[in-house]
Amino acid sequence: MNDRELLGLKEKSLNKIRAEEIAMIFQDPMTSLNPYLKVGEQLMEVLKYHKGLSKAEAFNESVRMLDAVKMPEARKRMGMYPHEFSGGMRQRVMIAMALLCQPKLLIADEPTTALDVTVQAQIMGLLNELKQEFNTAIIMITHDLGVVASVCDKVLVMYAGRTMEYGTVQDIFYRPTHPYTLGLLEAIPSLDDAKEELHTIPGNPPNLLHLPKGCPFVPRCEFSVETCLSKPPSLDHFGEHQLRACYRKAEELRA
Ligand code: SF4
Repeated sequence: MNDRELLGLKEKSLNKIRAEEIAMIFQDPMTSLNPYLKVGEQLMEVLKYHKGLSKAEAFNESVRMLDAVKMPEARKRMGMYPHEFSGGMRQRVMIAMALLCQPKLLIADEPTTALDVTVQAQIMGLLNELKQEFNTAIIMITHDLGVVASVCDKVLVMYAGRTMEYGTVQDIFYRPTHPYTLGLLEAIPSLDDAKEELHTIPGNPPNLLHLPKGCPFVPRCEFSVETCLSKPPSLDHFGEHQLRACYRKAEELRA
């Protein structure tokens, strides 16, 4: 973060970074909120601990943030418990909590997986608005390429903990250069496609404790060659700002 190595930092220094510089929204808001504490107490605690606000100040600021995430009747909700909220509202609380200290970076780990499609669209729209309003960068961790296409500017495609490809959202969707990215894109169902069977990537993700010696994608890759078994390919520049880790040339995959 800002050229500072975070690994190995003492708990006190990490706590200063948490919430104030980096905040996180987790997949399931029900298990991220404390079921025994009113939502207001959980929000106010962040401001009291990190900003040293008084109870009254923390209360007003929490209500303001609940309003910002479009929580209906924000003041009344402060006195309610998490189980009294719907899934979408709980996720709004989590987003409000993450933004209370206006962090520079927000990490959102599958923030809409537990929500239905309509609420998912509302939350993604909200994150987009808040990104502009609070000038917060967002790292979105997701397996949903629809979410990626709608909110992301740059995309890092990862497999078995390694970067396979990196580029702008246009690069990845319109000019993919890696077999794994191609496989993911082909697996998206299309309303215009008359194919009866959906494309799938054969096999399963590898056991991370026993990765193949070469490219981690090799057992599932339809383009693999002998070299792929030797060692993992390096991440090399491609075009203006794309990166890719593959022994095969991009043109060979498109042929
Ligand atoms: S390096 Fe080989 S196995 Fe890995 S993605 Fe490229 S072609 Fe496939």
